[in-house]
Amino acid sequence: MSYLTATLTAVPLGDSSSITTTNRTVSVMNIATLAPAACTDWCEAGDGHIFEASPEDQYCTGASRVVPVSDDGGALAVYEMQGPGQSVLVTITHNEDAGARLTLDEVRALRDALDALLSSHGAEGLRAA
Ligand SMILES: [Zn+2]
Repeated sequence: MSYLTATLTAVPLGDSSSITTTNRTVSVMNIATLAPAACTDWCEAGDGHIFEASPEDQYCTGASRVVPVSDDGGALAVYEMQGPGQSVLVTITHNEDAGARLTLDEVRALRDALDALLSSHGAEGLRAA
């Protein structure tokens, strides 16, 4: 029986490195876990995000609310996210492309703008679909 020995220098948390031997290279990744973050009650993962690369990456993300868009067959998606020590942000994407990231005050302003737009179309605009 033969044994392979290798020495790996310290790999920063979340980074990867490789070990090369005579016949293969093995990729390794430091997946040491972080202390769990306090997840919000709306966090989809709810696991404390212990496998993120750093504490700054321990974001809670809520469920997507999807609105089909008739003109291109795509969809808008809206979801909330919150990083450690940060305020809640709401992300709006179009066909999964990066879109707007809004504060809750900006979401309220958008809601008011949409309500005003619907009101300007009378009963037809305010009618529930
Ligand atoms: Zn979370």
